[in-house]
Parts: sequence; structure tokens; C-alpha cells
Amino acid sequence: MRVKFWGTRGSIATPGAATVTYGGNTSCVELRCGSDILIFDAGTGIRPLGLELMAEFAKEPVTVHLFISHTHWDHIQGFPFFTPAYSPLTTLHVYGSAGQGLPLEKVLRGQMQGDYFPVALGDIEATLHVHEFKGKPFAIGDATVDAMYLNHPGMTLGYRVEHGGKSFVYATDNEPYRHTLKHLGHRAEIGGNFGRDLDREFVKFIAGADFYIGEAQYTDAEYPARLGWGHSSISATVAVAIEAQVGTLAFFHHDPLHDDKAVAAMADTAHDLIKARGATLECFAAREGQVVEL
Ligand SMILES: [Zn+2]
Ligand SMILES: [Zn+2]
Repeated sequence: MRVKFWGTRGSIATPGAATVTYGGNTSCVELRCGSDILIFDAGTGIRPLGLELMAEFAKEPVTVHLFISHTHWDHIQGFPFFTPAYSPLTTLHVYGSAGQGLPLEKVLRGQMQGDYFPVALGDIEATLHVHEFKGKPFAIGDATVDAMYLNHPGMTLGYRVEHGGKSFVYATDNEPYRHTLKHLGHRAEIGGNFGRDLDREFVKFIAGADFYIGEAQYTDAEYPARLGWGHSSISATVAVAIEAQVGTLAFFHHDPLHDDKAVAAMADTAHDLIKARGATLECFAAREGQVVEL
């Protein structure tokens, strides 16, 4: 498997001199499993990925599997600018969860309505198949893909891919339940216990992954003021990765308020936490353009 980060930013694109190292494009990760092309999220990073795919496949047919974590703007806003969608040689499979009351296809159609964008989803030239997650693992070529709902406003999926004896997890926009569910007034204890049970399910889902792309939007100092927003602190994400015994954690979905210096400082914090725990976890802050071979 080969991983390439095309967009590492959360919430909104943040181009500019202060973000050149870690990048300003929103969420998009490419995963090659042999010849199969999997893409996780269609944030603004999918635009340059689309251009590269057009160059690579020139006039050949290409099949792309696009996994949407959820349909907040930072995860879909690049989709209308994904050039392969406008080629009749492209077969595009889009996977994700149904929305809160609308099917996934209608939600995607929504951001391309005439008031927002000049081209409708129905007018793209690629052959489009939209698949809603049905709760069971499924195969793409030699790879197996599984998904799990995360703790985030809206319907949000994390994905796990197994291929060639290696495992990859993409799970962004997620907050540990134990922090949010213990704030239930007189039912705090029940909430805390329930939260811990749900958190254990997540640890099971990512357990033993060779490569885990997890989110860490906030520093530990920022997190208390953002409780319940559906994102993790750096220490929470490192703790989960250690508990699940993953090989490498690439932390991701960098906050728009964090410049390169701030993200580098979070990586230092992560390394200190790992050292203090005596753990063997490898960890880095994901950088736009970075390629990792598994
Ligand atoms: Zn997001
Ligand atoms: Zn979100």
C-alpha cells in the first residue's frame, strides 16, 4: 500500500506562508492498493490529485473509489473540482453514510445545485455509483474495507483497509465519547461508563493497524473550551493509538488556527507523551504532499 496526503487541514482551507510545511488544503488522502485507487475524502486536496490522475491515465479508462467520511464542507468541497469526474473514461464509486434524513447522493447533489455551482452532479460525464455503508466489510480488488461510525456531529464514518498483510485506518473528525458523555448532569457516572464502552469499540476497530491516520485538531490546552465539538486533543489521540497498539500514527485535520510552528509543537508534545509512556508508537504530523509506503 502507498499513502499520499493531498490535504491535511480541518474545517477550512488555510493557504498562506504560515502553513506551507503542513499544508492548507482540506482533507484528502490517496491510498493505492496494488493497482486499485482509493481516496479518502474530497476536501480541497482532491483537486490537485485529480489533475495528477488525469496526467497518469491520459486517455485510458480509470476506476476510482472515493470514501467520504462525512459531508461537512471540508470533506466534500473539492469534489466539484475533481477533473476525472468530468471524463467519460472514469468510473467513480463513492462510498459513505446516508445523511441525517437524506440519501448520500442527494447530499452530494445539494452542493452542486445551481445556486452553489454551475455544473450539476447529474451532468458529470463519469459513470457514477453511490454506495451507502450497510454495516458489513466489503472487498475492492484484493483489499477489504470496513467502516465504523465515529463521535462527530452528523453521520461520520472511519474506514479500515486490509491489503497484502498490511492494515490502514482513516478515522478523522472524532472525539472520545468518555469526555462528552460524562457531562450528563446527575447521570454522569452512567454516561462515563457508556462512553468508555463505546471508546473500547473504537480501539478494537483500529487495533494493530500498521498505519493510523487519526485526527488531533486541538492542543490539550485548547480542548476544554471545545468539548463536544467532535474533535480530539493530541493527548487523547496518542493515548488511543498506544492502547490499540498501532504501528504508526499520522495525526491529521490540523486546526485552521494552527500555523506550521503550532503543528510542529503538537508533534513534539506527542513524542514526549509516547516517551513518557515507554511506548514504541511512531508518530508524525501529516504533511500535504507526503508519501508513505506501507
Ligand atoms: Zn472536518
Ligand atoms: Zn466534520
